Amino acid sequence: MSAIEIIKMGNPLLREVAEKFSVEEIKSPDTGLLLEDMWDSLEAAGGIGLAAPQIGISKQLAVIKLSEDSDRYPDMEDSEAFVIFNPEITVLDKTEQGFWEGCLSVPGLRGFVERPRKIRVDFLDEGAQPRSIEVEDFLATVFQHELDHLIGKLYVDRMKDITTLMFEDEMIFEELDEEVLD
Ligand code: ZN
Repeated sequence: MSAIEIIKMGNPLLREVAEKFSVEEIKSPDTGLLLEDMWDSLEAAGGIGLAAPQIGISKQLAVIKLSEDSDRYPDMEDSEAFVIFNPEITVLDKTEQGFWEGCLSVPGLRGFVERPRKIRVDFLDEGAQPRSIEVEDFLATVFQHELDHLIGKLYVDRMKDITTLMFEDEMIFEELDEEVLD
């Protein structure tokens, strides 16, 4: 399988609400191949999460894997490799936490985004089995960012202060007050 080119902000497909998968579709060989492409594309881009619309497939699938080897996101612990079909988010703690988010579909930029700090995610896994997990802190932000892609949202839509939208190579993290996870 192979890494697929990641589409960028401005492509209308990133603004669509993605379609759900049926259980049969999740178990199909085609979806198995799509998943391989998703992981290959994520790895090639050096990211920590990818949603199917980012490779041009308007379907409700995202993969997330935090890696302590990531160049884009240092100081991070490894996470499980999550395969997420048809997710539903429930906010468990509305208290907002902010991180400097980036996106493979918005290359070169970061913006400060505040989101609820703890959520529950109900979804179907790779075997089409229902799962319910609670995630908090940075991982909660990563889930909300990726799952936003499935409803046509980008992190820039969630920013309250557009002056925090910055090119990565102009950012001096030491001078920023907020907690930084770049
Ligand atoms: Zn993104």
